Amino acid sequence: MESATSTPPDRKTLEALLPRYDMAGPRYTSYPTAPSWQEELTADEYRRVLGSLTEAESSPYAVYVHVPFCRKLCHFCACNRVVTQKPELPVQYLQTLGTELQEVRSALPGSGKAGQFHLGGGTPTHLSPNQLEELMSAVFASFPPSETPEISIEIDPRVTLDAHMDVLEATGFNRISMGIQDFDPRVQEAIHRKQTVSEVAHLVERARMGGNCGINFDLIYGLPHQTEQSFSRTLQQVIDLAPDRIALYGYAHVTWVAKQQRGFERIDLPSPLARLSLLILAIESLTRAGYISIGMDHFALPDDDLARAIPESRLHRNFMGYTTSPCGELLAFGPSGISELSSGFVQSQRNLKDWQESVADQGLAPFRGHHSSPEDKRRAWVISQIMCQGELRASAFSARFGREFLSHFSSELEHLKAFEADGLLDLEADGSFRMTPAGRILVRNAAMLFDAYLPKQKNQGGRLFSRTV
Ligand code: SF4
Repeated sequence: MESATSTPPDRKTLEALLPRYDMAGPRYTSYPTAPSWQEELTADEYRRVLGSLTEAESSPYAVYVHVPFCRKLCHFCACNRVVTQKPELPVQYLQTLGTELQEVRSALPGSGKAGQFHLGGGTPTHLSPNQLEELMSAVFASFPPSETPEISIEIDPRVTLDAHMDVLEATGFNRISMGIQDFDPRVQEAIHRKQTVSEVAHLVERARMGGNCGINFDLIYGLPHQTEQSFSRTLQQVIDLAPDRIALYGYAHVTWVAKQQRGFERIDLPSPLARLSLLILAIESLTRAGYISIGMDHFALPDDDLARAIPESRLHRNFMGYTTSPCGELLAFGPSGISELSSGFVQSQRNLKDWQESVADQGLAPFRGHHSSPEDKRRAWVISQIMCQGELRASAFSARFGREFLSHFSSELEHLKAFEADGLLDLEADGSFRMTPAGRILVRNAAMLFDAYLPKQKNQGGRLFSRTV
């Protein structure tokens, strides 16, 4: 989605629309979204699901490993993590992970080759350099890398040593994501995450020494005490360090998941209008600096593969974020890991102890799952087109699913017309549409039009999702 590369979003239009469009909504790293996965799954049923994957579908695999540990709690964080200083927990975790890897591998058909590997968390570099090496040996023993694998990791600059960087280089990591969030000292104080520009600069320099490592930065807008002036300084510091990719996430205020966020309500949390201003500021600053806007919330330098993938429609989205490699089967390991399979989704036990006990007893630790119906797959494809390309071609839908887009989604058409009237998309006679620069800011709202589960989730009440802006 080439959002702000040429035409920036119109601030006045968006400000006028904000009261109607800023609402709770999914980020669509999956469809259906996780709250709709209601199926209980035993370990044997999960084994059968794995065993039923065909060779063509299952090669090469993508492997995600969730490392849940963190040294300190960042107060904005809603991830699944275990804040601990206890040295025995990572040791036990690695033992369980080894078992889980072997059990999944033995249930699968095919060569087991994997083309993508990602370590996320939590904080993977909470593990010692030796433990990190041990983890990757176990992963590669079960899932040998294909010829040109993508191997990536999320690191916390505060706990990442040169010795970690040595291991990453020796193990073949070719993409490192650094959690930056914001460099402003007042914001860092409020979110309980202090790290300096020079700490980050050192790791960037160290990662680039190998010559083959892409650098991603994660930023967050909408944090307490963030102002246009302070965020502008952070953006310039980021631009000076020239990461290849930047993920710019809106702060998700989800106090029912992350209770510690309640403390933010006593201090200066930006209003919806201020959040919008911060987002537009970031889009304008990054695109002025030469970054291409990708999908919902990513930016990449023009020679990065993610930027090159846009005109070729090669952009995909999964639990690891935006990627240029369509992977048939994404296998997840560790507590709360979500496997995205051609048949649907399986999530492992979210609690560390439950995951360990379940793997010890049964070899696997499925907690819940969802079997995707043909209609789920049609809607997942439409939502993916909106989130990745910012447009939907009716002819591509017909060619893929053998159905006419307009007749299949006749009830959604009225909503699309309302979006068009608000200047958020351009609609064609056959139902094809393309988001405008303003519409790309509200891309989650457009995807929500095609979410068949959302009305039921809303009727059930309860809070499930963060705000869309
Ligand atoms: S933001 Fe990252 S480092 Fe901070 S608590 Fe959450 S997972 Fe841990």
